[in-house]
Amino acid sequence: MDAGPVSMPTQPKDQDTDERFMGRALELAAEGAALGEVPVGAVLVLDGDIVGEGFNRPVNSCDPTAHAEIEALRAAAGRLGNYRLTGSTLYVTIEPCTMCAGALVHARVERLVYGAVEPRSGAVVSSARVLDNPALNHRVAVTAGVLEDAAAKLLRDFFRARRARTQPGARDD
Ligand SMILES: [Zn+2]
Repeated sequence: MDAGPVSMPTQPKDQDTDERFMGRALELAAEGAALGEVPVGAVLVLDGDIVGEGFNRPVNSCDPTAHAEIEALRAAAGRLGNYRLTGSTLYVTIEPCTMCAGALVHARVERLVYGAVEPRSGAVVSSARVLDNPALNHRVAVTAGVLEDAAAKLLRDFFRARRARTQPGARDD
């Protein structure tokens, strides 16, 4: 018999859910941009609820590890009183770096959903493939490209504005 469309990668309902949580991550990214930070936002979801969120803020916090993903993982782990975040999904607007991909494994995050790829420092499909390392004892499922245009636009606008500001002779605010 005709098997029909057997491969349905994402049900519409799941896609709506992913876009809703990514929408919140994008809001957080914009908060970071307003503070002069490279705009990246993240939320950690467990059982349908946001249990941690954050945005990239290494400059303002004087903390090189203060990436959006780490902020969301810290907030969630503190709130739940558990350093393992088993069964959770992390939403982040941009492909994670090596540090953050590693942190997802340490936290036992079940699923990663990201928006735009980061060709230089991205460590899921771009410059490295940390989550594919066969030596790791934990697998993270990955969904890419959710609201990627909005995530990439935030970054583009941020860097364009920064370049304009740092142009010699350009007005500074
Ligand atoms: Zn990172």
